[in-house]
Amino acid sequence: MRPASFGYQLASNLIDASQACARGAIPLAGGQSLIAAMKSRQMTPELLVDIGELRDLRGISIKSERIRIGALTRHCDLIRSELLKEKVPWLCEAASLIGDVQIRNRGSIGGNVCFADPRANLPPVLISLNATAVVGSSESSREVPIENLFQGFRENALVAGEILLAVEFDVVEGQKGSYRELSPQLNGVPLVNVSVSSGNSIGVGVGGLNSCPLRLIRVEEALVDGIGPALEAFDGEAFEPLEDLQAGAKYRIKVGRVLLRRALEEVLN
Ligand SMILES: Cc1cc2nc3c(=O)[nH]c(=O)nc-3n(C[C@H](O)[C@H](O)[C@H](O)COP(=O)(O)OP(=O)(O)OC[C@H]3O[C@@H](n4cnc5c(N)ncnc54)[C@H](O)[C@@H]3O)c2cc1C
Repeated sequence: MRPASFGYQLASNLIDASQACARGAIPLAGGQSLIAAMKSRQMTPELLVDIGELRDLRGISIKSERIRIGALTRHCDLIRSELLKEKVPWLCEAASLIGDVQIRNRGSIGGNVCFADPRANLPPVLISLNATAVVGSSESSREVPIENLFQGFRENALVAGEILLAVEFDVVEGQKGSYRELSPQLNGVPLVNVSVSSGNSIGVGVGGLNSCPLRLIRVEEALVDGIGPALEAFDGEAFEPLEDLQAGAKYRIKVGRVLLRRALEEVLN
């Protein structure tokens, strides 16, 4: 199907982009989710503001053991980054399992997060790393714990005029992590995905078990008593996964538990 007709504006700086968004425009990054949603008429924006030329939003850096990844950084850049391979290889692995080469070459971390799909690869990893979303507009900027950015099925917490600028997280010596997913097709969108990261504390993020990616706080808390109590805490969660022809809710929850156990064993043993 073709998208409904829409306007297009190329932003030359953040103020331009933010002002267009304040007037109702939708940011266009790599277009790998947005254009597909427009073709299927799930989204019918009247105006797109292309943020692809905002070079300041691209790149990976580290300062005082805090990593900053610009929102326009593409999946292929995450996979190739020597810094990420050394510090958080499970983030690189999650990126390497996204879609196909074209999607990884064009799709951005910002698009993956802002689209807020419950099964996207990167949100569980960023949640487990206690990442912060740095969000800006032409007037101000603010920092949001990454899990608070996810408000519901493909709904994010950005308000009119705001753009995701970057994600940031701390890395610590000896940090370990794991990313696990079950995908019906090689490199397809997962049914369920889980990430666990150690550090100053242990973070647990999951996708595919609710309308948006989640932090499992009770599982994190129960981990002080070991993996068994953490799995019991998982069993006590009231998940509401999607149900479709690929899998029912019970199956997804069962898979989530298996993936969580494997990820915890990998990180803690
Ligand atoms: C065939 C196919 C397979 C796929 N497989 C996977 C998969 O296995 N795993 C997976 O996680 N994803 C998958 N995807 C989804 C997609 O590739 C990723 O989510 C990608 O990261 C989207 O990034 P983008 O830069 O293309 O975003 P866009 O498509 O340009 O934007 C997506 C949404 O985010 C908003 N947005 C983008 N950047 C910003 C910003 N900086 N600030 C505010 N809002 C912003 C846009 O307005 C839009 O609503 C797949 C998509 C397709 C079509």
